[in-house]
Amino acid sequence: MTTHVIGAGLAGLAAALAARGRVVVHEAAPLAGGRARALADGLDNGTHALVGANRAALGFLREIGARDGWVEPEPGGLPVLDMADGRARRVALSPLGWWRKDRRPDGAGVQALGALMRLAGPGDVAVAGAMAAHPAFLRGFVEPLVIAALNTPVAEASSRKLGAVLRRVGAPGAARLLVARRGLGPDLVEPALAALRARGVEIRNGARLRGLQKGRDGRVIALEFADGTLALGDGDSVILALPPWEAGRLLPEISVPAAHAPILNLHFDHKTQGPVRFLGVLGGLCQWVLVRPDTVAVTVSAADAEARESAEDLTPRAWAEIRALAAAFHLPGAWPEVPPPCRAVKEKRATPRHRPGDPPPPPVRVLPNLALAGDWMEPVLPATIDAAVRSGRRAARALAG
Ligand SMILES: Cc1cc2nc3c(=O)[nH]c(=O)nc-3n(C[C@H](O)[C@H](O)[C@H](O)COP(=O)(O)OP(=O)(O)OC[C@H]3O[C@@H](n4cnc5c(N)ncnc54)[C@H](O)[C@@H]3O)c2cc1C
Repeated sequence: MTTHVIGAGLAGLAAALAARGRVVVHEAAPLAGGRARALADGLDNGTHALVGANRAALGFLREIGARDGWVEPEPGGLPVLDMADGRARRVALSPLGWWRKDRRPDGAGVQALGALMRLAGPGDVAVAGAMAAHPAFLRGFVEPLVIAALNTPVAEASSRKLGAVLRRVGAPGAARLLVARRGLGPDLVEPALAALRARGVEIRNGARLRGLQKGRDGRVIALEFADGTLALGDGDSVILALPPWEAGRLLPEISVPAAHAPILNLHFDHKTQGPVRFLGVLGGLCQWVLVRPDTVAVTVSAADAEARESAEDLTPRAWAEIRALAAAFHLPGAWPEVPPPCRAVKEKRATPRHRPGDPPPPPVRVLPNLALAGDWMEPVLPATIDAAVRSGRRAARALAG
């Protein structure tokens, strides 16, 4: 009995780790990791952060022996620079930290908090509309959270998805922010592959699934790859751990999210001294800036407009904001006026857009011997690493039961 996992993103890697018996992973790309991967030169495709509430993702890290590679860069609150007025301060990510006035986001009054709590209740509306009466809180806390967690502009973001996030980050420790100390290669993908190999899982790279053959009973009977067709045995099963557009191509009968949002990352080749840092910018181009010893990486999520701009236009603007951050928070080392070499990575379909009234995902076990996985298969939470890991494990369970 063999489980064929299609796709070696986080959903596929988690599914392969959870599946029992013989497991083969078929991945189209030369490298594993999917949308959370190291590029050929070792840079991350984009900065990935986890929070304490991401229990599935953190459990996966522990399972593959990689938990220690994820560090909390800002335990004292997130350093944030407001480009509108130059104010630099630390903001607690959890409302539990807002008892300290100096850690409270702007506008976090009783009424604004009440409106935020209502988003965690029933109903599904656009977040910006629901928080319109609290513009300072919307700008200083809700919008950055929505863009980071849902990768969807706040004007169109689903309050139901945000509510699911809010219900989870309220617990003690749940808003602790973690990043990979060295990078997604050494701190995520490589340990996952090592754990799978240690369990005897076979991984085939460069193996793009072109089509599925189904029998009369609806079971998958063969997998079509460029290098040939693989016939399945009676007890064999398939986990499709693919992005929505690929799952929809292979199974046109299922409905998949059609609208996606881009994420732009700018990687500056700049050596720094000191520990890993993670800083925020309000009212600028940069949203988050990750400082590691060898690079400074800027993240712009829900980057509809920025993804259309050229790297030549974006680089000097981003670097000027980084220098302002470095000055405001006394980052060690030299931060010269001239931008260092910069590489822009634009992920056009980074995640689905999460809008009010989105239809639920299809059933997990959509065919008798085929289960679906992928960040978009998560019914409650937004599409993230955590959602991908949960979906992979759920798919493996669905086929075992
Ligand atoms: C720039 C960026 C920043 C992000 N930041 C964060 C963050 O801070 N925190 C967070 O939790 N999440 C973040 N995310 C989202 C996170 O990366 C994704 O939710 C997650 O990686 C999706 O995993 P997946 O396995 O569902 O899909 P994918 O990673 O897309 O994996 C699918 C795999 O299937 C392969 N494939 C496709 N077609 C075929 C085929 N026909 N046959 C075989 N293989 C195929 C692909 O090559 C890929 O490896 C970010 C995403 C991006 C792009």
